[in-house]
Amino acid sequence: MAVTASEKKLLIGGEWVETGDWVEVRSPYSGDLVGRVAKAGAAEARRAVDAAEAAMREPLPAHKRAEILVRVAGFLGRRHDEVAQTISAEAGKPLKAAKVEAARAMSTFTMAAVEARKLAGEMVPMDASQAGEGKLAFTLRLPIGVVGAISPFNFPLNLVAHKIAPALAAGCAVVLKPASQTPFSALLLAELETEAGLPPGWLNVLVGPASEIGDVLVEDERVRAITFTGSSEVGWKLAERAPRKRVKLELGNATPVIVEADSDLDDAAAKLAANAFSFAGQSCISVQRIYVHRSRYDDLLGRFLPKVEALVVGDPGDETTDVGPLIDGDARDRVLAWIGEARDAGAEILTGGELTAIDGGAELLRPTVIGNPAPDLKVACEEVFGPVCTVTAYDTLDEAIELANGTRYGLQAGIFTSNVKTALDAAHRLEFGGVTINEAPTFRADQMPYGGVKDSGNTREGPAYAVRELTEDRLVVIDL
Ligand code: NAP
Repeated sequence: MAVTASEKKLLIGGEWVETGDWVEVRSPYSGDLVGRVAKAGAAEARRAVDAAEAAMREPLPAHKRAEILVRVAGFLGRRHDEVAQTISAEAGKPLKAAKVEAARAMSTFTMAAVEARKLAGEMVPMDASQAGEGKLAFTLRLPIGVVGAISPFNFPLNLVAHKIAPALAAGCAVVLKPASQTPFSALLLAELETEAGLPPGWLNVLVGPASEIGDVLVEDERVRAITFTGSSEVGWKLAERAPRKRVKLELGNATPVIVEADSDLDDAAAKLAANAFSFAGQSCISVQRIYVHRSRYDDLLGRFLPKVEALVVGDPGDETTDVGPLIDGDARDRVLAWIGEARDAGAEILTGGELTAIDGGAELLRPTVIGNPAPDLKVACEEVFGPVCTVTAYDTLDEAIELANGTRYGLQAGIFTSNVKTALDAAHRLEFGGVTINEAPTFRADQMPYGGVKDSGNTREGPAYAVRELTEDRLVVIDL
């Protein structure tokens, strides 16, 4: 973990800046100091917007933007271990998962570079109407302007990549505010951008009080778009406060999966066990609610529970660890309270449900499976964001779909079945931004259009889709 036990400055207008105040980052596992970062406030946020606006006065051509993005992808590959250790140290993410995240960020940058080179408007078929006869028209696809980007703690590298790589591909300068608990991965990425030749002002990184920096991004009219990933509560408030900006939201979920009677239970059990507890369930699409046909309930549990109990709980810096700590004590207490609520209401705790002491003193929440909770319990409809999933028996597919849809969220859902018709029926009726078939709904490849409906958001990320959101059409009409 020594790799990030350091002091870092903010990046504003191409300069690394100190402010005299610091934000301390501690390991969610050991509580040890990981490092400290210069603390920004409103004044630094305004300077960052000034720098971004100034940078955009000299647009970077698409080939240069693409080359920089490709170089960053290459640096991420060469410094893979250091990047993974940075993620693991600050987020408490098991090294195995941190390595996957580091590799995915390479893919995000690579895909964004492709989009930078493809960015183009389209021809308008003018003689399709009488009014258009004798005219030629086409659209230019132009950057929307300065982008404010706000990212969460749980994927401190790849979700920052999903903010800055498409924005730069689109030709927009960025003011980034990463999560205060995990700023080091973002600052490492900023170093790589600078090394890759990104000119001053195109990327500015601020770490500090969310509301102070957020207020500048909301209130400054030069910030034309805000791209936010985090909780629904914070995200929708930002959108309400900035009605004239494009505010793009990637928010939470309470991820359901349906396991039909005709599905391959070995396959389902293996995929669900791996994807309900990775990073202690702190993924927006962590498998949370499993609905299994009543005729296979015991069969599924017989396969699923041993796999859950075999997961290694422990030090995230250890290569063998599957499940590490929650991000902080408050998160742990909240998840324990939700488990307690389910237990008190008569739901069965099938495994876990309590803390386990690890050598060295940390107490971690064991992977927890809850049987047949009532649908209005928090664990069955709200986002747990912890190492907890529920397993509920159903009798008909209609009932399963109604249960799966019984949440304010709608990011991704899944179904296991060997019947194509059932799978496609469910894909139409599950009210989510994405539906996986015979795959855990935790699956994401970085070029996919990824995002939610209902309380889960209002956009799709994945470089091609994010570039579209961060650009505007300008119509050009020529009289021939
Ligand atoms: P969060 O508390 O909403 O924080 C996210 C970011 O918003 C952080 O940078 C935070 O800064 C900032 N923030 C907080 N209050 C703000 C305000 N008033 N104005 C401006 N910014 C503000 O979320 P989190 O706990 O880090 O992340 C977990 C949530 O993110 C979960 O709900 C999860 O499902 C969701 N998520 C969604 C996706 C997706 O793609 N759909 C992906 C990952 C996570 P500070 O850190 O300084 O407080």
